Amino acid sequence: MDSNFSWDEFLSIIKLKLSSVSFDTWFKDTKLSKITNDSIDIEVPMTFHKNFLNDNYYDLIESILKDLTGKNYDITFVVEDDIKIKTENEAKTDTNKTSFNSNLNPKYTFENFVIGDSNRFAQTAAVAVAEQPGKVYNPLFIHGKSGLGKTHLMHAIGNYITENSHKNVLYVTSDKFITDFIGINKKDTDNYDVIEHFKDKYRNIDVLIIDDIQFLGGAEKTQQEFFHTFNTLYDSNKQIIISSDRSPDDLKLLEDRLRTRFRWGLTANIFPPDFDLRCKILKDKMSGHDVAKLVKNEVIEYIANNCESDVRHLEGAITRLYAYAAIYNPSEINLEFATEALKDYLGKSLYSNNNIGKIQKAVADYFNLTVESLKSKKRTAEINNARQIAIYICRMTTEETTVRIGLEFGNRDHSTILHAIEKVSKDIKKNEELRNEIAEIKNKIN
Ligand code: ADP
Ligand code: MG
Repeated sequence: MDSNFSWDEFLSIIKLKLSSVSFDTWFKDTKLSKITNDSIDIEVPMTFHKNFLNDNYYDLIESILKDLTGKNYDITFVVEDDIKIKTENEAKTDTNKTSFNSNLNPKYTFENFVIGDSNRFAQTAAVAVAEQPGKVYNPLFIHGKSGLGKTHLMHAIGNYITENSHKNVLYVTSDKFITDFIGINKKDTDNYDVIEHFKDKYRNIDVLIIDDIQFLGGAEKTQQEFFHTFNTLYDSNKQIIISSDRSPDDLKLLEDRLRTRFRWGLTANIFPPDFDLRCKILKDKMSGHDVAKLVKNEVIEYIANNCESDVRHLEGAITRLYAYAAIYNPSEINLEFATEALKDYLGKSLYSNNNIGKIQKAVADYFNLTVESLKSKKRTAEINNARQIAIYICRMTTEETTVRIGLEFGNRDHSTILHAIEKVSKDIKKNEELRNEIAEIKNKIN
């Protein structure tokens, strides 16, 4: 092979031709990813590098390679993450003996999906579908606010299926579905082959995962095509998995016949994570880095208290904290360090204790119940009474909003919280025993 030059050799040459800033910015972190007789793949850190190198340095690289090897190489820049996904997919398709690109991200698995009360139902349904695609819940419709793990769960289902069977899985966002469809619509309406290709792509699959279906609203023609795709797959017992930021009933821009179909299978709602789950997710995501050992528990609680409801937000806090740690090299990551690192990110820099948790614990102890029962759906007179008292104390003694209180009491609607507060406020006026109970509990908390 003529290509027996080293990448370092290439770098040392190009370094002479560029300013040190340009070299450091564009070339320092490149690697030789793959080389064949006439093509070369250069690995770059980000898409940003890829575009810039393509536009500005392609000719220079080509000519240096020519000097080094005597050959004209076809140069491709590849981004690190894409390589990982591609090689995983290649490994899979090798065993499948067909080339089928699933668009699955191997990073999202069931193993690294942390489970709590707010997502257990959706996770269980997802596992069931992954184990028996097309057999149990079809379609599976997962909905919930942004950043709560819908995309993660869907990829996990797809990854599980491709690992454990030879089924063809296709993951697309509804945006991608629309572009595919509009792409053929605009240019190639007369081109039978292209239309057939589109139809094949979506119909010769065993599992269709379509993410963020809410964006299909408004695209009428695409909705029609999706309707047909849905029916074809459904009629041949192929699994369909759909996600959306709202329930089927709230997808107002979608045709009725689509919404009706979405309700045929199982609808699973993911709720925002409560305090316990937020802590669990933080611990899970922090582990695996060396710095994790330096993180004190108070830091986990601080982040869990100040980041509400969105897992992406939690991840951002960790990234930020770790970046800060990389710069300052602290001997431990304690509350002081974390508040400084995250003060802009979390909005408020005040450390708020897990007040709701404390109140729940005190009330549960007082009535000889568990905190779980207060958060549960159980409605025995005893539990109901204790729960309402706990909610009342939370509202009266903390700054927490009714929405937040609802979240920490098993995802209860904020109107339920308001009702509890009103009821206890009224009862307390005529019931001296209740007044004393509450006073006693408050004493214990302080
Ligand atoms: P959505 O699609 O609902 O907007 P994503 O699936 O993109 O949310 O999740 C946002 C980020 O949070 C992802 O990086 C995902 O891995 C992570 N995430 C969400 N829920 C969990 C969970 N239960 N366990 C671990 N990571 C999670
Ligand atoms: Mg998503």
